[in-house]
Amino acid sequence: MHTFRCVCHSKLFFGSTNCVACQRTVAMCPACRQVSAMEVQDEGTWKCLRNGCGQVQKPCQNRVDHAVCNRGVLVEEENQTLCTTCRLNQVIPDLNVAGNLEKWRRLEAAKRRVLYVVEAIGLPIGMPDQDELLPLKFEFKADGAQPVSTGHANGLIVLNIKEADSVHREQTRVEFGEPQRTLVGHFRHELGHYYWDLLVKPYQLEAFRELFGNEENPTYADAQKAYYANGPKANWQQQYVSGYASMHPWEDFAESFATYLDMVAIVTTADHFEEEKQRFEAHDFDELFEAYREIGIMANEFNREIGLLDLVPEVFTEPVIEKLRFMHTLAEEGPTSEA
Ligand SMILES: [Zn+2]
Ligand SMILES: [Zn+2]
Ligand SMILES: [Zn+2]
Ligand SMILES: [Zn+2]
Repeated sequence: MHTFRCVCHSKLFFGSTNCVACQRTVAMCPACRQVSAMEVQDEGTWKCLRNGCGQVQKPCQNRVDHAVCNRGVLVEEENQTLCTTCRLNQVIPDLNVAGNLEKWRRLEAAKRRVLYVVEAIGLPIGMPDQDELLPLKFEFKADGAQPVSTGHANGLIVLNIKEADSVHREQTRVEFGEPQRTLVGHFRHELGHYYWDLLVKPYQLEAFRELFGNEENPTYADAQKAYYANGPKANWQQQYVSGYASMHPWEDFAESFATYLDMVAIVTTADHFEEEKQRFEAHDFDELFEAYREIGIMANEFNREIGLLDLVPEVFTEPVIEKLRFMHTLAEEGPTSEA
């Protein structure tokens, strides 16, 4: 992620809500897409102080009520109180339960971070009040009488809020032998299923099947049963970005999509800090990929020196690289039938 600058020149971060140096109010401006200092106006509206922006906005209601968001809402959107990412929520955690507000805050922080990159690379997001694109929706729920499974169906992403508990997550990670398990990773994976529905199924099904296999044979239910009985395919490392990806073409796509977003997020962050942005903006997959491999090796060595998990645990074989290249094409072409 980029860092940002306050009008006082102090650094601001993606989640900042005020400047620690000058105490100004700070928000993610929906117009210039920068975390920026805001001038608080008499009417209670905020004006973006970033040079050349000046957009008048109001704080997202989820910030006012719960301090879980830092995005602004354009004043033109008269009847909207929530920002464009909070608007996607259908169900939020029960805030009467102790600890749930903190879990929700972590979920929203991860969701905003992931969606910011998704928007930056130009992938469309279906909003609830539009009907031309499959609306993207989120439900953050706790186990009750029925256990809640994290997953995606028809634009709806359900996340079990216990994933926001780091002890649960680490236990599950070890149990499933995963190299990483994070909220950011969950959002990236489930969004992969969403973009399969939105961009692959109607426009790129043949190209998808050539790379990932036929999603109808075996059926998802059969593939899932086999996976939980026997584990990942033998030698999955030769063809897949993770063991889980070897379960079924849909999971392969979601895992590859998540890895593609990891790659874009890491390389744009590195480029930002090097102040040379041409690598990703060149829209050349090979350059992007090489940069990721180079940064990944460096970051893994940093993490290993501190005893942390690898930042980039994946092994990139030729078939995996071709799947990532397919994601790059999807991100560039959007909803189109031209392969
Ligand atoms: Zn400041
Ligand atoms: Zn602005
Ligand atoms: Zn919001
Ligand atoms: Zn999945």
